[in-house]
Amino acid sequence: MSYQGTTFTLNTGAKIPGIGFGTWQDKEAQEDAVYEAIKAGYRHIDTARVYGTESGVAAGVKKAGVPREELFIVTKLWNNAHHPDDVEKQLDASLKDLNTDYVDLYLMHWPSAFARSDELFPKEGDKTKTGDTDYVDTWHAMEKMQQKGKAKAIGVSNFSKSELERLLSKANTKPAAHQMEMHPYLAQKSFSDFHKENDIHITHYSPFGNQNAIYSSGQDIGKLIDDPVLVEVGKKYGKNGAQVALAWGLAKGHTVIPKSKTPARIKANLEGDFKLDAEDVAKVDGVDKKLRFNDPSGTFGWKFYSDLEGKQ
Ligand code: NDP
Repeated sequence: MSYQGTTFTLNTGAKIPGIGFGTWQDKEAQEDAVYEAIKAGYRHIDTARVYGTESGVAAGVKKAGVPREELFIVTKLWNNAHHPDDVEKQLDASLKDLNTDYVDLYLMHWPSAFARSDELFPKEGDKTKTGDTDYVDTWHAMEKMQQKGKAKAIGVSNFSKSELERLLSKANTKPAAHQMEMHPYLAQKSFSDFHKENDIHITHYSPFGNQNAIYSSGQDIGKLIDDPVLVEVGKKYGKNGAQVALAWGLAKGHTVIPKSKTPARIKANLEGDFKLDAEDVAKVDGVDKKLRFNDPSGTFGWKFYSDLEGKQ
């Protein structure tokens, strides 16, 4: 097996596996998918309150029978629970569904609050009802969750540079990680450098770019994993384009969290953990199209990524 088991170190001192397993979509398939993933060798699972996959993850973990301390489990606070009085309640619900006392990393899924509600998507007419909780106040409530030991580390997701700078200026605890859309078609070099300078670890979501069928804006161009440059680079190592996209992320010092419900792909994606030569990293750098596929600005009532690369 060519899986190297790459890990990185967070600013908390904890290790985070370089390849994690995504669990957004295909809710019913996740118990089996997570079981397959752990059996194949994944030790990092990514979920979120809004995915509805936390209990499927727990069932897959249980079936795999790996001790809790060998796993790195990530979940995310959803936008309906940004109010400081709601954060612990939602984390407790996640922990219950995940059948664990703690998560290794707890992320604020988006900077944008919805109205306080038991509904994940509170409505005002046919629009999402937005809230006015400042993400800085939400962050302070998350800091308390880390102090209580319910989250070993805390971080953010989908923040712009100015939002992150503002958070850094007010935080008592610096985010350990930032999970964001990043792949060879959206490389965001300077934003990536900014994280290195601030010792904030990056996780690439949608590491295969427009492979996720939900991304309508990515349907009329060729798939990232079929890009001739990635395919050609892969030939040198006996790897496919998908594996090259993952290895490229690892070469940047980032974590990647591919999702698949297909056992053969689950195994193959783990073999994306291999070392790309510098010249090949540079070739893959060259395919950047500054294309972003995930932007819910229209539905969440928030202008996301305002200072970042990626066509809006
Ligand atoms: P990915 O880039 O992981 O792509 C997933 C898609 O690619 C699925 O359709 C899957 O199909 C297919 N696929 C997987 N492996 C291969 C392969 N080797 N060859 C060809 N096709 C393949 O997309 P996601 O958007 O799911 O991102 C990964 C994870 O990141 C999510 O599951 C989630 O955990 C996280 N995420 C976080 C977000 C956030 O806001 N923080 C936003 C988006 C994602 P199949 O399953 O049928 O095999």
